Amino acid sequence: MRASYDPYENVIEVMTEAMEIGKMNKYMFDIIKNPQRETKVYLPVEMDDGSVQVFEGYRVQHSNIRGPFKGGIRFHPDCNLNEVKALATWMSLKCAVVNIPYGGAKGGVRVDPSELSQRELRKLTRRYAFAIEPLIGADTDIPAPDVNTNAQTMAWILDTYSMLKGKPCPGVVTGKPVELGGSKGRNSATGRGVAISAKLILEKDGKKLEDVTVAISGMGNVGGNAARILGHRGVKIVALSDVSGAIYCENGLDADVISEFLEIPGNVLNKYQGEGITHISHEELLTCKCDILIPAALENQINEDNARKLQCSYIIEGANGPTSVEADAIIAERGIVLIPDIFANSGGVIVSYFEWVQNIQILTWNREQVNKTLEKIMTAAFAEIVEESKQSQCSYRMAAYIIALKRLIYAEEIKGIFP
Ligand code: GLU
Repeated sequence: MRASYDPYENVIEVMTEAMEIGKMNKYMFDIIKNPQRETKVYLPVEMDDGSVQVFEGYRVQHSNIRGPFKGGIRFHPDCNLNEVKALATWMSLKCAVVNIPYGGAKGGVRVDPSELSQRELRKLTRRYAFAIEPLIGADTDIPAPDVNTNAQTMAWILDTYSMLKGKPCPGVVTGKPVELGGSKGRNSATGRGVAISAKLILEKDGKKLEDVTVAISGMGNVGGNAARILGHRGVKIVALSDVSGAIYCENGLDADVISEFLEIPGNVLNKYQGEGITHISHEELLTCKCDILIPAALENQINEDNARKLQCSYIIEGANGPTSVEADAIIAERGIVLIPDIFANSGGVIVSYFEWVQNIQILTWNREQVNKTLEKIMTAAFAEIVEESKQSQCSYRMAAYIIALKRLIYAEEIKGIFP
């Protein structure tokens, strides 16, 4: 990652440009630019060896004008307040562009979870949940999984919160285990949304999933599920990567087999062997020859250093903020079509919304209902983005930002400024 890259500056720059292209009234922009609240917490944990380590945690609540604050929690050694601020802003834009009744928030802990035992991780998660307890709640701010967190993390947060409240509070988090009130289809929802995005843009261009090749950077929840679902729909996956490295196979990789391999503790992609498979670097994956590139790891993977070398026709952003502003301009100039993160990875929060609705109504949906409703919401939002990009003669990213900002500004204007 370049030292100068700042995700928050990045999102503000993109928003500023969208405000201009969309000819929006700027006086509300100062409100939307800034989060409503930033919280930093210090989390002491007694480690297995008896020593004490203090970790830093964050929760940034960007906006709740369109509904409760909503957004995931990430555990990462590079996590910092500025990154969480950008991620919280993207959540507000994401929920607005797909028109679900949520605002935006994000949380994080600066930690490398792979260096902690399960017991230490549980203690850290519970201490973090305790620290942010005054901020969260089913009708105020609802956390969910993000990078390096999962249904287990949500179960610990849910239990800590419920203990403090003296009653079960299933609606306080989404992405929890189905047995504790989670939704069917939530775990694979972000990856499914990425696959739906691929289908929608190809359909629009008169192409089919079965005729394209895909390279995916990141085999976490988003990349792994996108790979499996696209594979089931006949896509040829030519390259995959995880933190250890990347693999390439011209004849196609079996994402189900590779996912199973990666589930075994200690297994990473650079240990994976198979016929026709070559081991390549992360950079080689990003610039390999393919129809669709899906960055599904962290921010700033596609930047001015590699944007000119890309050999794909489409980019579908599974990660939040994987493309820098400088790279965006190069991509547009080169005619590469980009489906922006705030739409492409919205499947996760859309199914979080279904989970929350099920919790509030105390009923359950079946998987088919979840997947169908997800596709319906994304298809409608995609049509609006395509229409806006025609009207404003702009990229899909700008169109998505214009739609989201118009909704946020309308909500600000109609409610007015307190007091
Ligand atoms: N962490 C996911 C995201 O970035 C999901 C958030 C949620 O479900 O609240 O969109």
